[in-house]
Amino acid sequence: MPTKTLKEICGCVHLHTTFSDGGCDCGTIINAAGSAGLDYICVTDHNNLGGRDAGFEGLRSNGVFVLVGYEHNDAKHHNHYLAFGVDRTADGLTDPQEYVDAVKRMGGTGFLAHPAEKRDHIESLPPYPWTRWDVEGFDGIEIWNQISDWMERLRGWHSLTRLFSPNRKLGDAPPDLMERWDTLNRRRFVSAIGGVDAHSRKFRWGPFSCVVFPIDVELRGIRTHLFVDVPEWGDASSMGAALISAMRDGRGFISNFSRGDARGSRILLTDGDGAVRYPGRCDSDDLSGAAEPSFPMKISVELTHKANIALIHNGRKVRSAKAKGVAWEVSEKGLYRVEAHRGTGAWIYSNPFPVGGYPL
Ligand SMILES: [Zn+2]
Ligand SMILES: [Zn+2]
Repeated sequence: MPTKTLKEICGCVHLHTTFSDGGCDCGTIINAAGSAGLDYICVTDHNNLGGRDAGFEGLRSNGVFVLVGYEHNDAKHHNHYLAFGVDRTADGLTDPQEYVDAVKRMGGTGFLAHPAEKRDHIESLPPYPWTRWDVEGFDGIEIWNQISDWMERLRGWHSLTRLFSPNRKLGDAPPDLMERWDTLNRRRFVSAIGGVDAHSRKFRWGPFSCVVFPIDVELRGIRTHLFVDVPEWGDASSMGAALISAMRDGRGFISNFSRGDARGSRILLTDGDGAVRYPGRCDSDDLSGAAEPSFPMKISVELTHKANIALIHNGRKVRSAKAKGVAWEVSEKGLYRVEAHRGTGAWIYSNPFPVGGYPL
């Protein structure tokens, strides 16, 4: 029984506007998103839903769907949390467990933002990592943050070359964060998104200052590709719910557009009975969530460009190939996911396929 075909939507998550500390207003970002060919954007200003209050949420005339969430933080500006699907902010809450719980109580979905920031070399821009790994109940993690990645590698004067084509200078998602994500995912499903953290702000480097990431550049880096039910996409009243549920369920993959347009790439799992599924969370009665899945399974990867593709099983690379497409048979339970690298950095990270019941 083949899984029904879902529609791929490609967009940028985690954008700041003039409703907080972003350099561009909502209208400018929406226009830039249309020019960049995006299907959706997720605006996440700090501690406010101003973009929604001002009427920017919804399907715009240029075909871009705008979802307005917000970014919460604790009293020390650490533990940033991206909340979607909430009708208000959890004002006054400074304990991460409290605001993670509050977002859930409001029916929202939340992601830990840039949790692995470490930079200690830019005094004016200290790191804002997630420090409370004891917190339970978040839906997912922003495993790759465009601005964090870029700034983390900005060390020494030779780094000035990073001012040009900044997205092509991005590297990989932080290895320690990926290890933590793999570990968490063997206990329960934890989704991943990629974040831009767009601010379009001036960056100062000694006597120099410039906008390294103007908005049209920001939207051509890390993108989150999601697979949604076709009938739900195009109907403005249900697009928000379709987008949020695809993010929460990890139904898709993350790419760095500057290493190649990944739209159209497919990473799929076929079970021993021929049923096909996209990456992401499984229902308990689902083929891959079942305690006794039907082996052998096949993980197939069809990309839009040739790349170094790797299959990761329970956090360990178990297969690799330099190819545009590949199919690998798997016959063990556990957590499978796919990475692809091109040039000097990562291009694609898929969400995982959990195979077998939890714990994996
Ligand atoms: Zn943040
Ligand atoms: Zn942010």
